[in-house]
Amino acid sequence: LLLTADRTALVREATHGLQQRDPAERIPVGQGVAGTVAATGRPMVLASPAGNGAAEPAATSQASVPLLAQGRVLGVLSLYDREDGEPFTLADAEALTAFAVQAAVAIENVRLHAEAERLSVTDPLTGAWNYRYFERRFEQEIERSRRFGRVLTLLMLDVDHFKSVNDRFGHQRGDEVLVEFAGRVTGSVRDIDTFARYGGEEFVLILPETNLEGGLAVAEKLRRATHRQPFCGDGDGGGVRLTVSIGLACFPEHATSPGELLRAADEALYEAKLQGRDRVVTAGPRLLPLHARPGQVKGRAARVE
Ligand code: GH3
Ligand code: MG
Ligand code: MG
Repeated sequence: LLLTADRTALVREATHGLQQRDPAERIPVGQGVAGTVAATGRPMVLASPAGNGAAEPAATSQASVPLLAQGRVLGVLSLYDREDGEPFTLADAEALTAFAVQAAVAIENVRLHAEAERLSVTDPLTGAWNYRYFERRFEQEIERSRRFGRVLTLLMLDVDHFKSVNDRFGHQRGDEVLVEFAGRVTGSVRDIDTFARYGGEEFVLILPETNLEGGLAVAEKLRRATHRQPFCGDGDGGGVRLTVSIGLACFPEHATSPGELLRAADEALYEAKLQGRDRVVTAGPRLLPLHARPGQVKGRAARVE
């Protein structure tokens, strides 16, 4: 049984041989034998014909020991009714404690590993995926779309005049605005979409299985949602007014490699800024390789009409 994040209850994580006993899914801390062990951090042995109360699987004998890691209770290991029918003894609890020490270390290690993994792929400020994760995921999504003949849309979002948000409201408020911006986007896209912080106030959104029309709908929704409601407001019309510019590019319509698709979305974003911001711009038709268009202008890649 492991403690919930708020440490108010034990949740059954793994059982053996309990099928017939209607094991309790959740045991409030402080209730029953296991709940008491979670609260005190001390082993308990029970042998009573009256049973162990309603909070946990019915038993007339029970041994429960804490799963302790660095002195902190992670959960409880409970045994109910010995197979030989004898009541549990203190010696049983001692043996169980020795085992629980090792189990707790193993559980803690798995948790630390999972946490390190999570931190290595998320942006610490906004909780969005970081660039490293985006890069990996973007390649996989393009590869998958290519193999199965599917479409995909990439949005590149850049908050407009964000420098002036910092200048007017301070860097800390700027941070809060970014957190809320990321939260709004995450809250309005699908689970299969990948929303990542590209850097600073720039974000990318991968929309698998989405064509140009669908991508435009998503981008417009995000643009309007940004424009409509001030950020970090107190509900009295205060808060920071914000707009966002979005560049959009589709696979395979605008480009077929991750690098080219990213560049196409980036160029469309640049165009959105040039046109006055607070808008969505779609990438131009696919670019020809440089060597295929001799004599054309230098600078930003010219589009082939
Ligand atoms: P534009 O409409 O052309 O995008 O204007 P902009 O001011 O948003 O663009 P610019 O790239 O000139 O400035 C980006 C600003 O974003 C500058 C930088 O200080 C700010 N910024 C980047 N990352 C963070 C962050 O993590 N927190 C805060 N508060 N500001 C950030
Ligand atoms: Mg910007
Ligand atoms: Mg920028």
